[in-house]
Amino acid sequence: MLLIKSSNEVKKAISFLKNSRKTIGFVPTMGALHNGHISLIKQSKAETDITLCSIFINPLQFNNEIDLNTYPIKIENDIEMLINEGVDLLFLPDKSEIYPKNFKPIDFSFDGLDLIYEGKLRPGHFMGVANVLKIFFEIIEPNYAYFGQKDYQQTLIVKKMIESLKIPISIKVCEIVREENGLAMSSRNVRLNETFRKNSGFLFKILNELKEDLNNISIEKAIELAKNKIALNAESSFEYIEVLNRENLEKWDEGFIKNQSIILTAVKYGNVRLLDNILI
Ligand code: AMP
Repeated sequence: MLLIKSSNEVKKAISFLKNSRKTIGFVPTMGALHNGHISLIKQSKAETDITLCSIFINPLQFNNEIDLNTYPIKIENDIEMLINEGVDLLFLPDKSEIYPKNFKPIDFSFDGLDLIYEGKLRPGHFMGVANVLKIFFEIIEPNYAYFGQKDYQQTLIVKKMIESLKIPISIKVCEIVREENGLAMSSRNVRLNETFRKNSGFLFKILNELKEDLNNISIEKAIELAKNKIALNAESSFEYIEVLNRENLEKWDEGFIKNQSIILTAVKYGNVRLLDNILI
């Protein structure tokens, strides 16, 4: 695996590969890798000639300094995992490589999609995500970029960003990888202590029960029931839980359309925000 820290070196390597007609799959990450990340890498390996993974903790997308300063870093372990998966190139830039001194973020317009749910709770988060990805996409010019359904709202933001800038990349969304108890894997889960981790399967269970309830009772009642169940768990409080149109995260006027909807949730559990969703 090539490990490159400079954007210019990445550009050179990519231009060489493109000249030899290789397709490039790009998996952007913030490191502290787990099997969720690895599933994206496996899909890229299966679908493209060259898989490039980046590890960059993007300060621009953090709205909370403590979260940024305590974000888990496990670079040696990450490198070993990437080598084991047969990743071709790891791009590991410094902050100054991505954001030169005179850098000014672009104020994208996402028609309000960046201001609801995660965007509302983490002001500026999606502007940070969109800006860093635009920079990465310009350096790497991948044919495909792989994202996790786990961060569902992010996948819609990325699609909107590349549409509006007419960037010729195909976005692939990969299923959520879960722990045995149903907890969606996340780098921040290391902040859960043993007891919390053991009990953390409650959210996926509640989501599945909510999905079932929607066959029998109204959305409002089913959500109320789910909120009550979340509240029964010690140390957990819901931030949002909604049944939405999966195209635009708007609420349905009446009922919901099967195979076009998503249950989207964020729950604070101990000191960790658990993000989860299921397509319905
Ligand atoms: P992160 O390092 O948290 O920025 O995540 C990098 C990519 O991995 C994003 O596209 C995430 O949505 C994806 N990802 C994170 N957790 C999971 C998971 N449990 N299953 C699938 N993809 C995931």
